[in-house]
Amino acid sequence: MPAESFHSFPLTTEQRQRMALPALLISLGLHLALLINAFRPGLSPLERQANLGQGLLGISYTVLIFVFLLPILDRYRLFIWVASVLNGLLAGVVYFLEPFTLPGTYLMIASAIILTTAVLVGRWPTYLFSALALGIQVGLPAVIGIAGPHPSHVITLLVISVGATESIANMQDAIGRHNKRLEAIRIAAHKLASSLEMDEVLLLIQNAVQNSLTTDTYYVGLVQDHEIRLALFYDEGEFFNQVKVPLEGSLAGWVVTNQQSLLARDLQRDSIRKKIPFKVVGKAKASRSWMGTPLRIGNEVVGMLAVASYRRNTFDRQDLEMLENIAQLGSMALDNARHHQKVELQSHLDSLTGALNHGYFLQQAQSLMQQASEARPFSLIMLDIDHFKAFNDSYGHLVGDQTLEAITACIRASIHATDLVGRWGGEEFAIALPNSNAAQSCEIARRIRSNLEQLEILNRGNRNIEPPTVSQGIAIYPGEAKDIYRLIDLADQRLYQAKAAGRNRIGSALEGCS
Ligand code: GH3
Ligand code: MG
Ligand code: MG
Repeated sequence: MPAESFHSFPLTTEQRQRMALPALLISLGLHLALLINAFRPGLSPLERQANLGQGLLGISYTVLIFVFLLPILDRYRLFIWVASVLNGLLAGVVYFLEPFTLPGTYLMIASAIILTTAVLVGRWPTYLFSALALGIQVGLPAVIGIAGPHPSHVITLLVISVGATESIANMQDAIGRHNKRLEAIRIAAHKLASSLEMDEVLLLIQNAVQNSLTTDTYYVGLVQDHEIRLALFYDEGEFFNQVKVPLEGSLAGWVVTNQQSLLARDLQRDSIRKKIPFKVVGKAKASRSWMGTPLRIGNEVVGMLAVASYRRNTFDRQDLEMLENIAQLGSMALDNARHHQKVELQSHLDSLTGALNHGYFLQQAQSLMQQASEARPFSLIMLDIDHFKAFNDSYGHLVGDQTLEAITACIRASIHATDLVGRWGGEEFAIALPNSNAAQSCEIARRIRSNLEQLEILNRGNRNIEPPTVSQGIAIYPGEAKDIYRLIDLADQRLYQAKAAGRNRIGSALEGCS
């Protein structure tokens, strides 16, 4: 692990201080003991000075590191190396002072320094410290011509240094990973709570997966007509669209059908053992590890979230828990987005008839019209029920309302699914026919008229009554009008010509269309 990643962990100064506290207490205690020892009767002046000097220096240095250096280490990276060199030099000096101070002082101080350095500055500076301390112990005796350290001293220092640093590095690694995940979940939760668009929700789920798990592949599947439609599917740098996975014979299907998470550390082995067949989707390459979890709304499983890797043993239980957390947040957001979609759709519809409302019809018709051309004209029919006031007066408003609903359904059944029907006002409807010329739209208007004649309408006494007739006006874009407003106006004029000509008619520029 490079030194960098050691510091990328979002550990606070307080967290680091707490981790280094035991080592610092040992250091303080030991140096205090040296100070007390300095006043023990019977010491030679040299011994007294060594104890006093090391005690004072040690306490000051410990306080300096803990109180002043630690909070600024992240900002002034140079201090990491300065501290390490200083630690190494001081440890070397302490080694030479040991014969004059307390036995065991050297190893205890060296251990405290190793621990503190490992917590505060990381793996490589700790090794630098060990190297310097060892260099002084091994090299200096030779230079000044005295007996060197016992080899056990050197080995002990190395073992302590490597052991302590590795454990601390692993611990900080784990804390760092954990923090990163919590952060990913926190961000995802915050954003998902306020997302109402389906695409945005899928994107946020994608971000949460990417920021918290190491994967080659991930997908969000939604159950649709006994299949799982992969709404988001990423495989090694590529996105795939419109992929469908069957409920039977797939890992995704297993998760949905069994309504439980699945963790396959070794896909080949586990799928045989658990008798779950898997299919290769996306790239023609079989994943080696896989985990998936259901997306639940209430008690219903509406889909699943899965990640996979081309390496074995990529995921563990903690990863699965993370995926489950994301799935839980994602499900709630998907539910919100679905509700929002429904409400939005509803807001575009007329509440009585279910036809598009005036404003939405206009907007949609306009966008269809923009795709029209001379070769693929756009037709508009304005349709008004004849003598509907009298109809209401005879049969009552309730029957009138039911008739409006029945007429809307009848119009819809007479046109293509890609055509639009809107309630223009009271008992007037607008019908948009993309890709229809004058002859074709006249044909449709006639079909509507004849289908309406067959309409079965009951009065309040449940007796069949004659359905009302309708008058229609047709106009064609771009041949007869330049924009939607002129097109509507022209169709309206032709509608009223049809009314004036005796109703139950079609007004059109086309010869013979009436
Ligand atoms: P014309 O053939 O000239 O169109 O005659 P009309 O009676 O249909 O025309 P008019 O514009 O005089 O009256 C429209 C009637 O449509 C008036 C109103 O009672 C009825 N109407 C409009 N909206 C609704 C509705 O939502 N429900 C019911 N039951 N009637 C409606
Ligand atoms: Mg009318
Ligand atoms: Mg009218």
